[in-house]
Amino acid sequence: MQADASKQNLLGLPQPVLETFFADLGEKPFRARQLMQWIHQRGADGFDGMTDISKGLRERLDEVANIALPQVVSEKRSSDGTVKWLFSAGGGQAIETVFIPEPARGTLCISSQVGCALNCAFCATGAQGFNRNLTTDEIVGQVCHANRVLPPRASGDPAVSNVVFMGMGEPLANYRSLIPALEILISDYAYGLSRRRITVSTSGIVPQINRLGDDCNVSLAVSLHAPNDELRCRIVPINRMHPIAELLQACWSYAAKRANRYVTFEYVMLKGVNDSLQHATQLANLLANKPAKINLIPFNPFAGSDFECSAASTIEQFQRRIRELGVIATTRKTRGDDIDAACGQLAGKVSDRIRVRLGDRKRRVAAS
Ligand code: SAH
Ligand code: SF4
Repeated sequence: MQADASKQNLLGLPQPVLETFFADLGEKPFRARQLMQWIHQRGADGFDGMTDISKGLRERLDEVANIALPQVVSEKRSSDGTVKWLFSAGGGQAIETVFIPEPARGTLCISSQVGCALNCAFCATGAQGFNRNLTTDEIVGQVCHANRVLPPRASGDPAVSNVVFMGMGEPLANYRSLIPALEILISDYAYGLSRRRITVSTSGIVPQINRLGDDCNVSLAVSLHAPNDELRCRIVPINRMHPIAELLQACWSYAAKRANRYVTFEYVMLKGVNDSLQHATQLANLLANKPAKINLIPFNPFAGSDFECSAASTIEQFQRRIRELGVIATTRKTRGDDIDAACGQLAGKVSDRIRVRLGDRKRRVAAS
């Protein structure tokens, strides 16, 4: 359904807000639970088929509300089963969502913003600049759409079993939309995902990491990418505001809020930049004896960027060194290569505007 600004889109309302909506219509709170199940579990895109709701209320709902999913611009399916959707974000802009099927789970990588303001040196989304925050319904709509169009799992459960905020944008810079989206993903009346199966990935906005720990302690992934401040300031500029020591302190407090919790540290492997054995040692020393796992990500090149991915043998040695020093490390498998579905490629075709910004960024990285 098309978005209609005059109507309340029920897709993005968590249970308490939906209860208030129904109270305003003179209805009981249980209506909220009914509606959530219809929308998120039973695939309703209108009120007509809601057989357990009276005709009068359905007509009233139709006047004031709708269930509007984001509009699909394109869908691409990779030979390895990965699916990538482009959804319209209005004004000629788009966001991307990627589904990665694995034997034991189906992971959906979703976007939280159109573009990103944080400008990490190796990221296609950062090169695009910041356009706007997604609304809660646009965030949830990505999951809703995927479950509607993908076949259920062998168990009969919906296709999406895990959600990672590793698409476009910095989720903690869109906190206001993020929290209700997480509430809907967790709700038993919607997607019923456990906090463990939802991962928020951040480049390190420390105050929001602290808030998230209290508001909704989902799994946390932190884009570290460098083991010292000098290098991290160059490739992850938010480090100038929140340096590594402060960031790690927030991570350990986050992990301490729930038993048996690890923080995952993402580390993109950039040839000749952050991939030496000294870097590996420094990285392992930062994280040894802490609730930390390292996930090495092969750099995904995109048009206009002149970073290169480290050689496979370098990545192996890097990983081995970290493990020798007692820290858990894995290397991410790249999926969906044939449809440009990998991390950091989510800006689609690089426009001239992006190329200009990339030129600026390269000069800055080189100069610092
Ligand atoms: N803004 C958040 C989440 C989105 S990016 C964050 O930065 O964590 C998801 C992951 O992809 C991050 O670890 C990010 O650093 C990584 N990434 C960005 N560009 C990449 C590229 N070109 N190749 C590999 N990983 C990349
Ligand atoms: Fe933004 Fe994450 Fe890309 Fe950095 S890596 S520019 S925080 S999307």
